Amino acid sequence: MRAVHQSLDIAAILRRAEQFSPRREVVSRERDRSLQRTTYGELGGRARRLASALLRLGLEPGARVATLCVTHRQHWEVYYAAPIAGLVTHPINPRLHTDDIAFIADDAGDEVLVVDEAFLPIYEQIRDRTPFRHVVVVGAAPDGLLGYEDLLASGDPTWQPGELDEWSTALVTYTSGTTGRPKGVAVPHRAIALHALSSALPGWLAMRDDDVVMPVVPMFHALAWGWPYTAALLGAKQVLPGSFLDPASLLELIEGERVTLTGGVPTVWMGLLSALDDETRKFDVTSLRAALSGGATAPPAMIEGLRNRHGIPLVHTWGMTELIMGAIATLTWDLQDAPEDEQRQHRYAQGVPMPFLEIRARGDEGLAPWDGTSLGELEIRGPWVAREYLGQPAGGAEQWTADGWFRTGDVVAISERGYIRIADRAKDVVKSGGEWISTPALESALMDHPAVAEAAVVGVADEKWTERPLAVVAFRPGATATPQELREFITPKVARWWVPERIEIVEAIPKTAVGKFNKRVLRDQFDQDTSKAEA
Ligand code: AMP
Repeated sequence: MRAVHQSLDIAAILRRAEQFSPRREVVSRERDRSLQRTTYGELGGRARRLASALLRLGLEPGARVATLCVTHRQHWEVYYAAPIAGLVTHPINPRLHTDDIAFIADDAGDEVLVVDEAFLPIYEQIRDRTPFRHVVVVGAAPDGLLGYEDLLASGDPTWQPGELDEWSTALVTYTSGTTGRPKGVAVPHRAIALHALSSALPGWLAMRDDDVVMPVVPMFHALAWGWPYTAALLGAKQVLPGSFLDPASLLELIEGERVTLTGGVPTVWMGLLSALDDETRKFDVTSLRAALSGGATAPPAMIEGLRNRHGIPLVHTWGMTELIMGAIATLTWDLQDAPEDEQRQHRYAQGVPMPFLEIRARGDEGLAPWDGTSLGELEIRGPWVAREYLGQPAGGAEQWTADGWFRTGDVVAISERGYIRIADRAKDVVKSGGEWISTPALESALMDHPAVAEAAVVGVADEKWTERPLAVVAFRPGATATPQELREFITPKVARWWVPERIEIVEAIPKTAVGKFNKRVLRDQFDQDTSKAEA
């Protein structure tokens, strides 16, 4: 006999939303740009009906239901339907290379695919290499494939979830695989529930039922930071932007729906900042109480630009596929009245870990002290931190310490108050003459220059120093600067020996499938090529 009856599971989150917030709205942007308005009451009923329809397909417990979808209400329904039926949702990033998508679907053993009509060409390219038994199309289904609404209609509208084991897998998600093959992570129900609770607390997201939450981070990236669950648990209104992630479409939604809380990768906010700076079209963004930026370093110039010129409180956050959200850079009590400069330094950091997460930094000589400067690789553990990778030999054990801490690969300093500051990704770090150069710090210094839209720094081989930083820069429309001007601009901001000899100008920095700078491509492109070196 268990002493406690109620398990921490996704069915409990859905039940809560249906019972306590049945009339709270969920707004979803459709393929034709129109806004579809529904409620937790309606969505909950549809998710349960879909759950029963999935079971009627004859799936066994634990079977995987993959999605190739943008952020819309049907995707939201699958996020709930599969886990409450004892199945597993597996959101796949449609922007990955088709070889990777085929690999991931096969590795996860996906039996069902729910695919947006717009992504059917991807399905066509991978169908022969994947284990799907049923393909369900959101939109018009070609012959031989199931229509999403038809499948849903075949379900029982009165179906209720049975008892779930909170330790059973609810979702599977894959790393984006910039180094080697993507790796799968199984996320249990319990992890989702605890992550939702912990991240919603005051001091972190401080989410409430009167919030209007718009995840710009797609549902296939780090599980949309868990927001589809967190917002439902709290009964906050949700705004799902569909495939329209361009600045004007997002700003229209913020203005029209009075969005209070939103989150995405820095490239999204850089685009938004440019759109707001360009005064030809004005938007009212006064409803926003926080815009979270995570997935890559938020450049200080962007944070300040959004804050000072447009009153948007940009909040830095840190997370990973292996743990969803990890830390949020809100100000602790003892910084509330601190001098502006001290506050700013803490806002630029990646933040304090959410309750139940434990951190430490391992330097060359053991654990690094929490002094804000000593560097080490960040190690983390907690109830929603992965313990192994799916299907890897020994679970990919080298990524975990013997006592079970996950090695993040992020090189950090931890401050006395517990703020994490990422100096670099271990694999991106530039080590020149035996000393570390922080590529995000150099990038931020370059992006402070008014002509620079984007800057990425990679290490290139150097005979004398082993490695030197090389900067790749893209300018704002109509703006320009010479490499020498850029060097002079950053010289007072960084150590003299950090200043890159080579600065390459490009139209746009190549991005990964989740919108981060793709440093692997830049290294491949520029490491061997010294012909274009700027004096
Ligand atoms: P992913 O699993 O694709 O979300 O990538 C996780 C990695 O993104 C982390 O290990 C960090 O290297 C990086 N990352 C996430 N958030 C931030 C942030 N706020 N600042 C710098 N790097 C970040």
